[in-house]
Amino acid sequence: MRRGPPELLKPLLKFESIKNDHFPYVDVSHSVGLYVEGLTVTFDGFRALDGFNLYVDDGELRCLIGANGAGKTTLMDVITGRTKPDSGEVYFGQNINLIGKTETEIAQLGIARKFQNPTVFEHQTVLSNLELALHGKRGIFDTLVGDFSSDDLDRINEVLAIIGLKDRIKSPAGSLSHGQKQWLEIGMLLSANPRLLLVDEPAAGMTRGEAERTAELLKDLAGDRTIIVIEHDMEFIRSIANKVTVMHQGQMLAEGSMTEIKKNPSVLEVYLGEEY
Ligand code: ATP
Repeated sequence: MRRGPPELLKPLLKFESIKNDHFPYVDVSHSVGLYVEGLTVTFDGFRALDGFNLYVDDGELRCLIGANGAGKTTLMDVITGRTKPDSGEVYFGQNINLIGKTETEIAQLGIARKFQNPTVFEHQTVLSNLELALHGKRGIFDTLVGDFSSDDLDRINEVLAIIGLKDRIKSPAGSLSHGQKQWLEIGMLLSANPRLLLVDEPAAGMTRGEAERTAELLKDLAGDRTIIVIEHDMEFIRSIANKVTVMHQGQMLAEGSMTEIKKNPSVLEVYLGEEY
C-alpha cells in the first residue's frame, strides 16, 4: 500500500500535546513516527530488502517478526545509518530524511538502538553506567567530576524508577541478572530520551518473569516514544503486540493484530507453522 511522501499525508490525527518534546524538530504532527517506502538493499546481488514498506505511527509499539534472514536486522541497519540502501525512502517523523545521514547524526536526532546482547560497563555501578550514558550530553569531564545539573540527576532518578533498579544503584552492573542488565541498558538509552527506540530480541535469554517485566516496561515506554521490537519469542510478542509486521525475503508479508497474523495462511506457511 503506497501512501505517498510523508509531507503529503493528510493530518489524520493531530497530537495536541506531545509529552516527549526533547526533539522538537521531529515533526510528528501528522502522527508519522517512521516512514519507510520501497527500501531495497542488495549484498552481492542478493536482495536482503526488496522494496520494503513500513509505516509506524508516532508513539506506536510495533513488533517485527520473520524467519532468520528475512531482513529485520538489515532494516534496523538502514534506519540507524549503518547500511546505505540502493533505493527507497526512510523518514523520521514526516520531515527528516534519514537517507545519507551518518550513524552519529541519526543517534543525535533521537533514534536509539538496543542490540540483542547487553553492553553495560560490568565493573561500574548501575548509577555510574547511567551517568556515563549522559556523556554525549554533558561531556566526559563533567562525568568524571560528577558535575551533573539537577535536571540530569532528575533524569537519572526518573530512569531508575522506570527500569526498576533504584535499589541496585551501588551494585556493579556485572552482578545484575541478564534481565536486569538489559533493563539497565534500556535505561542508558533512555537517558537521552529518544523519540524512536529500536529493540532487538529483548526477551532472548530472559526468564519468563524477566520477559514479562520487559513487556510491561516496553508497553509503558511506548506512547511517549515510538518503539520497534524485533523478536522471535512469540509468547513475548503476544504479550506486547498491538500491530505486528511479518517480514519475508526482504518484503512485508503481512501486517495486523496478532489474531489476524496467526490466521494468515502465508504467515503460517513461511513462519509461524502449525503450532500457532
Ligand atoms: P535473523 O533473525 O537471523 O537476525 P534477519 O531477519 O535479521 O535474520 P538479516 O540479518 O537482515 O535477516 O539478513 C537478511 C539477508 O541478508 C540474509 O540472507 C543475510 O545473510 C544477508 N546479509 C545480511 N547482511 C549481509 C552482508 N553484510 N553481506 C552479505 N549478506 C548479508
